[in-house]
Amino acid sequence: MDSKDLNAEAYPLDFLPRLVGSFASPASENPTVAIVEAAFRHHGLHYRYINCEVGHDQLKAAVEGAKAMGWRGFNCSIPNKVEVIKYIDDLGESARIIGAVNTVIIEENGTTRGENTDGKGFVKAISDVTSVQGKRVVLLGAGGAARAIGVEMALAGVSEIMVLNINESGRALVDLLNQRTPAKATFVLWNHTFDIPADTDIVINATPVGLYPNVEQRLNIHAETLKPNMVVADCIPNPVYTHFVKYAIGRGCQHVLPGMNMLVNQAVIAIKYWTGENVDAEVMRKELKRVFGL
Ligand code: NDP
Repeated sequence: MDSKDLNAEAYPLDFLPRLVGSFASPASENPTVAIVEAAFRHHGLHYRYINCEVGHDQLKAAVEGAKAMGWRGFNCSIPNKVEVIKYIDDLGESARIIGAVNTVIIEENGTTRGENTDGKGFVKAISDVTSVQGKRVVLLGAGGAARAIGVEMALAGVSEIMVLNINESGRALVDLLNQRTPAKATFVLWNHTFDIPADTDIVINATPVGLYPNVEQRLNIHAETLKPNMVVADCIPNPVYTHFVKYAIGRGCQHVLPGMNMLVNQAVIAIKYWTGENVDAEVMRKELKRVFGL
């Protein structure tokens, strides 16, 4: 289908789009609005995505407001992914295990369900280049993104996950994975320059090291231990080419996935929840590259 400049073109006599959006703080750096609206235009979906600056203080009111205005749902990002659970009715299976929600669906009757598409989007990005079944994973970081990725990768069939974290709090993710998923997880206290074990299949950066504006920050790993047979993935969406991604490309790793892939895929899944439509990830990837000037 050709892209359309305005949804009104597709729906000339319907001036009431369905609404979705995002509640986060800070909100202005998040490019999700651009890529989701590009998908809506491309597919002629009569929806708008409203990016809102909302922190903890106003989250309850924002959720009530979205329900009152008939929104179809919303994303949550920092700092609301855990907090929002207080204000919704139900949780999807993996969101319950992860303990965080990034996508809320509001049903026609006003009931709300929280899902977590971060890890699902990540698994989709990896599955586009390799099977995850039985694979050994090194996961750098143990925060919200690592939790979502670890749980979804484990539920999707990876066999071993080595979690690295700069302090002992990372053990909680290892316990969660061992208790609630079939994968075997181990913990490494990351207080030294780390050698990626040679038998690793997939290496994932789920820390903010290298995230804009700290683009010169580098992970505390021996980059030369990345091998060409390893799949390397970064969660950082901005910049697209982090030092980690550039190292992996330089080391000849055959599959190197920037965080942009995860961002696009989690949005595809969120749109499916809200609209029932399977939108074209390529349209969103192109828009993301356009807004980043790539
Ligand atoms: P959190 O703050 O929840 O977790 C960050 C993790 O990184 C923690 O384990 C933290 O350790 C660790 N960490 C922090 N600083 C360092 C450092 N200097 N060296 C090593 N480890 C460090 O953040 P999120 O999990 O929400 O986000 C992590 C990254 O993932 C961000 O860059 C974010 O942009 C990205 N992300 C991307 C998404 C996408 O769609 N592409 C979706 C969601 C997140 P500690 O235990 O000490 O806090």
